[in-house]
Amino acid sequence: MKTAVITGASRGIGAACAKRLASDGYQVVINYNHSEQQAQSVLDEIQKNGGDGMLFRADVTNQDAVKSMMQAAQKAYGQLDVLVNNAGIVQDDYLLMLNSESLDRCMDLNVKGYFYCAQQAALKMFRKKKGVIVNLSSVSAQMALAGQSVYSATKGAVNAMTQTLAKELASYGIRVNAIAPGFVETEMLDAVPEEKRSAYLDAIPLGRFGQAEEVADFVAMLCGKQCAYLTGQTIVFDGGLSL
Ligand code: NAP
Repeated sequence: MKTAVITGASRGIGAACAKRLASDGYQVVINYNHSEQQAQSVLDEIQKNGGDGMLFRADVTNQDAVKSMMQAAQKAYGQLDVLVNNAGIVQDDYLLMLNSESLDRCMDLNVKGYFYCAQQAALKMFRKKKGVIVNLSSVSAQMALAGQSVYSATKGAVNAMTQTLAKELASYGIRVNAIAPGFVETEMLDAVPEEKRSAYLDAIPLGRFGQAEEVADFVAMLCGKQCAYLTGQTIVFDGGLSL
């Protein structure tokens, strides 16, 4: 059986990825930081459907906590096959009002957290010469939205790290790709005021927001043998928003 660690899996896209990978037969490590009850319901649903998994509380901005999480995954399941680097935050940071706490929070989670998790996961994968890392990026990396300079910079960093890590890790049999969703209906989007939401909706050629389950299906495909020859790519998944 294969093992997948999904960061930020207590809700939204991460929860959908955990459920989808569990239904594909992965033993899943459901990472969360604050939302223990929500993470527990994700695990309950997986187990009810015959899947296997465990919870692991770790703030992924903390390198030691990330190390303990990957060790726990290895100890519980004997191996690590997939990392979904998903835990992230969006916050509106207009340049003229930007403060360093907000900048650090976004950089720490969306960039440093991804590096910590990728490093610790790769250390577990490289001996087996097999593994997959999927990074959650965003279409914001290549599409300007006023107020999102920090968020888009962090996602640009994710795209760049995806390419470089793919090159570094290919000889160890580890593939690294990213998916860059447009607007997906999760709590992250719920936080957007209604008038902005309807303007966003009008800009999507397919005429609707994406669903977390659709992103999860694509993540599962990136992990599977259909994509065995794909590495270093960021796939835009946005209903045509960026066209
Ligand atoms: P979400 O609903 O806000 O969920 C965020 C998840 O991250 C939660 O499970 C949260 O868990 C976890 N998290 C936050 N800080 C953490 C930390 N320090 N350590 C560990 N976990 C932490 O977000 P989402 O919409 O599913 O987005 C997931 C990813 O997709 C993000 O990287 C986001 O940038 C990207 N994305 C989302 C959209 C969208 O429209 N929704 C579009 C493009 C890209 P706790 O509550 O337990 O802390």
